Amino acid sequence: MQWNILGHQTAIRFLQNHAKLANTRHAYLLTGPEGVGRETLALAFAKALNCLTPPSEGTFCDQCLPCRQIEELRYPDLTILRVAEGSKDLKIDQIREMQKTLALAPYQSTYRIVLIPDFQRATIGASNALLKSLEEPPSKAILILTADARESLLETIASRCEVLRLRPSSIEALETYLREQKAINPNRAKRLAHLAGGRVGSAISFDQNQDLLTAYDEALADLGELINSQLRERLQYVENLQKRKSASREHFAFLVSVWLTFWRDVMIRREGAEIPLVNIEHENQVSETARLIPSEQIESILNAHENALVNLDANLNPRLVIENLLLALPLLQVA
Ligand SMILES: [Zn+2]
Repeated sequence: MQWNILGHQTAIRFLQNHAKLANTRHAYLLTGPEGVGRETLALAFAKALNCLTPPSEGTFCDQCLPCRQIEELRYPDLTILRVAEGSKDLKIDQIREMQKTLALAPYQSTYRIVLIPDFQRATIGASNALLKSLEEPPSKAILILTADARESLLETIASRCEVLRLRPSSIEALETYLREQKAINPNRAKRLAHLAGGRVGSAISFDQNQDLLTAYDEALADLGELINSQLRERLQYVENLQKRKSASREHFAFLVSVWLTFWRDVMIRREGAEIPLVNIEHENQVSETARLIPSEQIESILNAHENALVNLDANLNPRLVIENLLLALPLLQVA
């Protein structure tokens, strides 16, 4: 009996055994790229540990009160500690506050579970504070951390956790899953699976957020025009962008990250690599662009985009960052 999750079979079997034998560790670390399903897996584990009527050992029913409360993130013995809204990192005070809760006995279940997503965003102070809970773990507590990679955390933290590394599914498996389990029409399923690069969470958030998908298409359409435009028009574009209501550092970073996916696709085509494209519905534009630019130049365009993201993150003037980026683009005649 499975957890009804796409992929991650090894990790699921492993956690099912821990739940089945009531042989849990004090801390788990689930690593993998954003949208790969780290939190979904953590919540499934919480359900398997707390389900009142599991269909078989190590599984969960998804219908009893604990299962529903966990799904709705309002289970009394489950705490989720996130980076505060508007903040960049997880602070030491948040960890200390959580530790007070952790020390209390669970209300109704065997374990008190604390889930801390994206622990790579913890400050050094917060990491060191958490270390205390890992060195002397309260007996009834289970900590579940997620992170982009094990290497992003202090080794003293990672080495005290059971580390499970999650990878994206194949594009085909995700496409099938979206069609069969989520009743998404075949064309859209194909597009979403490619866009998400096999990460099920990303595919579903694209599916549920039409505004995001529209913004994504607009960003690519803009880029298509920009590489056919003179410098003057490119500067005009940035000026217009700046005037828009949606203008913000985040929006500029979004544009650059979408463009980056396009240029990565161009590189894949140029090099003839056997890697699926992200922007499958723009395959012609990708191939045409790849035909016109040598690899070294694509490489420097990719670097310029990565630098732009770093600079936006480092609080440089967004307008200047985008202007510099657009001036670094070649002028092409792409149909
Ligand atoms: Zn249940």
